[in-house]
Amino acid sequence: KMQQRLLRICEDASEKKVGVFIDAEQSWIQDPIDVMTILMMEKFNRGRVVVYNTLQMYRHDRLQFLQDCYEAAVQRNFILGTKLVRGAYMEKERKRAEQMNYTSPIQPDKASTDRDFNSAIQFCIDHLDRIALEVASHNEYSNLFTTQLLQQRGMPLNHPSVHFSQLYGMSDNITFNLAKVGCHVSKYLPFGPIKDVVPYLMRRAQENSSVKGQTGRELALIKKENKRRRLA
Ligand SMILES: Cc1cc2nc3c(=O)[nH]c(=O)nc-3n(C[C@H](O)[C@H](O)[C@H](O)COP(=O)(O)OP(=O)(O)OC[C@H]3O[C@@H](n4cnc5c(N)ncnc54)[C@H](O)[C@@H]3O)c2cc1C
Repeated sequence: KMQQRLLRICEDASEKKVGVFIDAEQSWIQDPIDVMTILMMEKFNRGRVVVYNTLQMYRHDRLQFLQDCYEAAVQRNFILGTKLVRGAYMEKERKRAEQMNYTSPIQPDKASTDRDFNSAIQFCIDHLDRIALEVASHNEYSNLFTTQLLQQRGMPLNHPSVHFSQLYGMSDNITFNLAKVGCHVSKYLPFGPIKDVVPYLMRRAQENSSVKGQTGRELALIKKENKRRRLA
């Protein structure tokens, strides 16, 4: 039933020429999502990208998974839509692994997640003939790193296969600056019942404050802009 629903969504999106981004979830339910998403890519990502899968780079197996998906895309001749995130369920994952006594799928530390996230960006940029990339991050360095890689390789910042995204209401300083230099950029707008959406946004806001100094800088920029508008 779920596959039928997904098929209808992808058919509709393909007709209307818009993308479908499938979110990544907890590792214990992710495998069927990956399988179904790859099936949809094989069907719809012929010559242009419609469907994107999400890879959480806080998982230590995802860089290899990205390379395996790329091989599959080459062999089966489809475009690999790849949305890169760091991952949102770190504590839940670690807790469950400990309780159920299996090896945690999560990287040992933040530096390892950052390393794999940036390596995945580099892998995608180096294979844009076959990969369509979305960098979904509020991390200033990762966004800057992507633009630097494009420039180093002599590719335009508005490369049609490279997109950036931040959540609506967060990290506008990153979104606006990317847009200003010509990058394709969008805001993710979560919607749904308040009881689901507010906790979701709270988790994202907490994560944003994990990068030292970044939230303080964003707040200072918002205050500065408010002041400018009042004076204008
Ligand atoms: C447009 C958009 C779409 C998203 N879609 C999804 C999705 O489909 N699925 C999903 O799971 N998440 C999704 N997220 C959330 C994302 O996974 C991150 O939780 C969030 O963006 C914070 O990471 P960051 O790259 O912005 O920045 P940062 O603040 O640099 O990174 C924080 C992240 O680093 C990782 N981390 C922190 N401490 C450690 C540690 N000690 N060890 C290992 N890793 C650590 C965690 O993943 C944490 O969330 C999305 C985010 C955006 C902006």
